[in-house]
Amino acid sequence: MANKNAEVAQALGELATLTEIDEGSPQAFRVRAYQNAERAVAGLSGDVAELSASQLAGVKGIGKSIAAKIREYVDSGTIAKLDELRAKHPPGKQELLRVPGLGAKTIGLLDELLGVRDLDGLKAAIDDGRIAGLPGLGEKTADNLRRAIDQLGLSSKQTRVPLYVAVPLAERLVAAMEAVAGVEQVAYAGSVRRFRETIGDLDVLVAADDAAAVTEAFLALGEVAQVLGSGATKTSVLTRDGVQVDLRVVPPVSFGAALLYFTGSKAHNIRLRQRALKRGLTLNEYALARLPDGVDPADPDDADDPDDSDTEVDGAAKIDHRDLEVVAQRTEQDVYAALDLPWIAAEQREDGGEIEAAEAETGPTLVTREDLRGDLHDHSDWSGDGRASLEDMVAGAVDRGHEYLGLTDHAENLRINGISREGMLHQRRIVRDLEQQRGDIRILHGAELNIGVDGSLDYDADFLAQYEWLVASVHSHFTRPVAEQTARVLAAIRHPSVTAIGHLHGRMIGKRPGIELDLDKVLDAAVETGTAIEINCNLRRLDASAEVIREGAARGVTFVISTDAHAVDELDNLRHGVANARRGGLPRDQIANTFPRGQFEAWVERVRSG
Ligand SMILES: [Zn+2]
Ligand SMILES: [Zn+2]
Repeated sequence: MANKNAEVAQALGELATLTEIDEGSPQAFRVRAYQNAERAVAGLSGDVAELSASQLAGVKGIGKSIAAKIREYVDSGTIAKLDELRAKHPPGKQELLRVPGLGAKTIGLLDELLGVRDLDGLKAAIDDGRIAGLPGLGEKTADNLRRAIDQLGLSSKQTRVPLYVAVPLAERLVAAMEAVAGVEQVAYAGSVRRFRETIGDLDVLVAADDAAAVTEAFLALGEVAQVLGSGATKTSVLTRDGVQVDLRVVPPVSFGAALLYFTGSKAHNIRLRQRALKRGLTLNEYALARLPDGVDPADPDDADDPDDSDTEVDGAAKIDHRDLEVVAQRTEQDVYAALDLPWIAAEQREDGGEIEAAEAETGPTLVTREDLRGDLHDHSDWSGDGRASLEDMVAGAVDRGHEYLGLTDHAENLRINGISREGMLHQRRIVRDLEQQRGDIRILHGAELNIGVDGSLDYDADFLAQYEWLVASVHSHFTRPVAEQTARVLAAIRHPSVTAIGHLHGRMIGKRPGIELDLDKVLDAAVETGTAIEINCNLRRLDASAEVIREGAARGVTFVISTDAHAVDELDNLRHGVANARRGGLPRDQIANTFPRGQFEAWVERVRSG
C-alpha cells in the first residue's frame, strides 16, 4: 500500500530547489546531493519509513547527513533545515525558477537589489525598466524574460500548472488521504484526470462520512503551505509547490456523481445534463435524480465549470436533491448507464464527439496499462545519463510483467552519453547472455539514434541493420525552419532499420517548444513505411502530444508507448503515456506494444523490411 517514498522524495526535491536558490547555483554540491537522494528514495523498492538512519546511509545516492534528515522527516513530519529555508525564501521565489533564463544566482540578485520575490514582482520590474537597468542584465535580458513569461503563460493570476507538477502531486495527495481513518474512496478529478497538458487547480475528492475529521487530516499534511478557505465540505489550500488544491469531502453514496461532476469538462457535463432533462431527470454533484412533474429545472448552461477555481458546489440545479428520487449516484458507471450511455473515459470528456461515439458504439477501444506487454525505449547506465545497471533494468521490466524490452542506450553521436561501436557489440553479447540465462523476457538489442541536422544517423547502414530495434530522435538543432526539420525527420522515418521515432518534437514542457514539423508529411510517411511514432511517457515531454496522437490515429499510424526510462522506477511511467493515448482517442490495436510477443516480433520484421 501507500508508502512514504513519494512524500519524502518531494521534501528532498524541495530542499534541493531551496538550496539552489539559497546558494545561488544549481551545481552546488549540496543541491546535487539532495537531488541524488530524491531519486534514490523515489526508486526504493521498500518503504523509506522502515529504514534506520544507517540503513538509509547504505543506499546508493544517500549520504549520512541526508539519511539523518530523512529520519527526521519520517519521525517528525518535517525537517528543521527545510523549515528554515522556507522561511527565508517564500514560495514565489521557487516559481521564479520556472522562468527560462532565470537562474538561482539572478533570483538571489533580484531579491537583494530590487526586492523581487515572485512573478508579479518580476513583471513589474520588467515593465518599469528596473531589470533593464541592472548591471549585467540590460534591455535584451528584460525582453527575453518578458517573452519567456508570455510564452509559458506564466501570468500571475492565470498560472497554469504543468502535468509534471500536477500528476505527482495528485498521486501523493490521493495516497496520503487513502491512509486516513474513515476514508472510503479517494480520487483526483478535474483537468488532471482528463490529462490536459496544463491545469488551473487540482480537485481531490474524498468519500467519507466524517467530513470534519477528513478535513483536519488534510490540513495537517506536510504539503499544505497556506489555507485559502475551509468550510464544511470544501477546503482550498496552496501547496508548497504553489498549486491550489480544492479538497471536497462527499458522502460515500454519491461519490460517482461527484467524481463525474468535478472531472468535467464543463462542455461534457452540460451535454449530460441536457440528456438527463430529456429523460425527466436532473444531474448534479449529488446524484442523477427524477424531476417531480411540473418542475422547471435550472438551465444546465448556467452550471458550474469544474475547472473554475471558485466553483460553488450548490450551483448545478436549484432543486433540493434530498426531495428527489435518486436514480444513480454511487459510481460514474451507474450514472452513465442511467443516461443510456456506456462509461466514457475521463481523458475523452471534452465534448469532442465522445458522447455521440459512445451512443453509437463507434468509439475506439482505448488502451489500459494492463494491455501493455513491453517497453521499447529504455536506458541503462551504459548511457552516460542512465542510472541503473542493464541487469537491474531488465529485472525491473520483468517485475512489471513485460514480455519484451527494447534496450536503447544512446548512440555514439550524442557526446558524453553515447556508446561506441565496440561498446555496442560488447553490450549485445551481454544482452544475449542475460536473455538466455533469464529465459523470462525477450530483450531487443537496440539503440537511441540521433537524427542529425541533415537527417543523418549514427554509425552506418550495415551496422544499423544488425540492431533489432532502433529509436531515432532529435536531440539538437531545435530552431531550424519547418521544411528542414520535416526533411530530417522524414529521412529517419524512411531509413530501413529505424523502427520508431522517439519524442517526435523534442520539446521539454516549460523549457523549450520543440521542433516545427509538417505533420501531414510526417504522419503519412509513418503510415507508408510502418515506422512507429513514440508516445513518450515522460511528463516533461508528453511527446507525441495528444493532438498529434489524435491526428495519427485518424490516419492509421502505428504508435508505441515507451517510458524512456533512465532508472528502474521510471519504468512505472507507462501510465502517463496510456493517459495521453486515451486523451488522443488512439485505438488499442494501433499500439504495437499491446501485441503479444509473437505478433510483435512479426510486426517488427515487417517494419524493417518495409
Ligand atoms: Zn532522447
Ligand atoms: Zn531516451
